[in-house]
Amino acid sequence: MKALVLEGKNKLTLRDFDIPGTLGPRDVRIKIHTVGICGSDVHYYTHGKIGPFVVTRPMVLGHEAAGTVIACGPEVTGLAPGDRVCMEPGIPDPDSRASKLGIYNVDPAVTFWATPPVHGCLTPEVIHPAAFTYKLPDTVSFAMGAMVEPFAIGMQAALRARIQPGDIAVVTGAGPIGMMVALAALAGGCARVIVADMAQPKLDIIGAYDGIETVNIRNTPAADAVARGTDGWGADVVFECSGAAPAILGMHQLARPGGAIVLVGMPVDPVPVDIVGLQARELRIETVFRYANVYDRAIALLASGKVDLAPLVSDTLAFDDAIAAFDRAVEARPTDVKLQIRMPD
Ligand SMILES: [Zn+2]
Repeated sequence: MKALVLEGKNKLTLRDFDIPGTLGPRDVRIKIHTVGICGSDVHYYTHGKIGPFVVTRPMVLGHEAAGTVIACGPEVTGLAPGDRVCMEPGIPDPDSRASKLGIYNVDPAVTFWATPPVHGCLTPEVIHPAAFTYKLPDTVSFAMGAMVEPFAIGMQAALRARIQPGDIAVVTGAGPIGMMVALAALAGGCARVIVADMAQPKLDIIGAYDGIETVNIRNTPAADAVARGTDGWGADVVFECSGAAPAILGMHQLARPGGAIVLVGMPVDPVPVDIVGLQARELRIETVFRYANVYDRAIALLASGKVDLAPLVSDTLAFDDAIAAFDRAVEARPTDVKLQIRMPD
């Protein structure tokens, strides 16, 4: 079967590549329909590694997928061939201490699609545990099913924030994840979300949603805009989604006394933090690593129509053009949020 294979840094090929594996009793086989391109896929392409995860042999990319069940192991209940599904790309050890605590996202034994040495899903078919495969309601398209994975990070951030109804939130960084976080924060009860970035096209896209205000930090410092928007009090929750050193150094200035900061963005290198600035407002700091137990909620929000991610899919390219799609993702056009790849029928 033809897959999109990262051979090494800066080298992608579309070629026959069989991912080894057999259908276990609790697994399903899925025909992949749509796969979103994630920043991490692009980073592996351009850098050959992310932190300690290094691509040392050919690896199939992709982890944001939706498709159709075509076979079920004998012990699978609740899923049947023909079901439209999306998949959680991280598979923990169900017997691990972290899994037993419900924090399987930080299980040291977790295997995650397209994180070396684990292959991803930019291939016609995958085998996946039924427990991490979620049925899509009729109202959720394959394209939106493939958006559940990035939206799940927004959901995890909103849950970690412990939003209270009517909170005012700030999101620093309007990349795809910042946008997902902003929408999850609104769905989670925030009255308003102020999104700060320096790329105006991105701010225009997310600013088109009701309840979202934007500030271009090229013109106005985020702290000034937030002070103006909160009568000088500050935001109840600050979601740091840029991973940019200056934003992290100044993040305490955006929060109200006793507020919360949720660290979502991942700086490539260690960055300085103003500890006393955080202490002086007694801010609560939360961190986010992927997600756990949020897929059902994310799908429910999409199905209900309370969250609409369709405006964030900038383009859909054919699998045969997958390398061109990745090269476009590397370009990082300011008007592109999410690029998706459509597998052949
Ligand atoms: Zn992703």
